[in-house]
Amino acid sequence: MSDRDDELAAKLVHLRGEGLEKGDPLALPLTLTSMYHLPGDPAPGVPGYGRAENPTWEALEAALSLIEDAPALAFPSGMAAISAALFAVVKAGDRIVIPTDGYYTTRLLADRFLAKLGVTVVTRPTLDMARGGFEGVALVFLETPSNPGLDVCDLAGLCEAVRAAGGVSIVDNTTMTPFGQRPLELGADVVVASDTKAPGGHSDVLMGHVASRDAAFMEEVAAWRKLAGGIPGPFEAWMLHRSLETLPLRFERMCDSAEVIAARLAEHPAVRNLRYPGLADDPAHLMAKAQMTRFGFLIGLELESADAAERFINGCGLLAAATSFGGVHSSAERRARWGDDVAEGFVRLSVGTEPVEALWAALDAALRG
Ligand SMILES: *Cc1c(COP(=O)(O)O)cnc(C)c1O
Repeated sequence: MSDRDDELAAKLVHLRGEGLEKGDPLALPLTLTSMYHLPGDPAPGVPGYGRAENPTWEALEAALSLIEDAPALAFPSGMAAISAALFAVVKAGDRIVIPTDGYYTTRLLADRFLAKLGVTVVTRPTLDMARGGFEGVALVFLETPSNPGLDVCDLAGLCEAVRAAGGVSIVDNTTMTPFGQRPLELGADVVVASDTKAPGGHSDVLMGHVASRDAAFMEEVAAWRKLAGGIPGPFEAWMLHRSLETLPLRFERMCDSAEVIAARLAEHPAVRNLRYPGLADDPAHLMAKAQMTRFGFLIGLELESADAAERFINGCGLLAAATSFGGVHSSAERRARWGDDVAEGFVRLSVGTEPVEALWAALDAALRG
């Protein structure tokens, strides 16, 4: 990790300690309450009601804000965060651009709900975003590396082009986390992420967040959360707060291992069309090197058939057969089962925190059948 990321990672584990009074619990208390003691008139800064404020969320948001280096708001899932960011920006008559090869639920949400409110939803492949043509576009949604294809687009160039055309750029940074890529620093207006993935990291909690340095936008996002009511549960917020403390450690290990495993898979006779932005001959490598600080823990590979892919996934003792990614346990799935535009034998592999040689031995054995 960069010196700056190291510094943030160190600060993150001591963040709560900074504000403590003598006798305060060192660990974050979990505050489960809908009501606050509120005699007389409400006062600024005094919590009033559980849909609007909760100290456990606030501690989580302080940690998210530290690692994003921007104000952040927590949501009960990645999609709740994405919905809030979209609804804070769009209005009837707007045109928005969404990737065809990004997280598919974002497209479903836009097609099913934004379209009927009079928003025109245009979709394009991630690699095609470079074509520009953002005049008259209110919002451009980007996801890089795309999921599951792992194509990479030029965030600095695209965010600048969107801004010059008067639009807002929103980047879904789920696959990279701030420790692998910093879209706000590359010029994005807004970052959204599913913290269900690597930030949660143990596959036991769904959460998400929105981060932006645009105060007026964040005010809209906060109002959306309070008025629409899609608020995080305090317990989930507490779990994510705890997980974040080990995110830098887990993420670094996962990326280190993914680099080793991707290079070996690329040489494996059973594997075709391996995609990993960290490999020097990957089509995304140069752009990835320019804008990412790590190459991530996701690997795309093709086996000869759907059957071969299923045998690999289900026959490997160190792979969880599951959708989603970013857990401490390595996991994999055949994406064509969801209708993704990929080969039948395409597997998305999420590298976990197992010791790399043990993991490689298990993957290699499963590939040999
Ligand atoms: C999982 C995911 C989401 C949605 O997150 P949830 O927490 O499942 O709502 C959004 N974007 C990307 C890239 C994801 O991988």
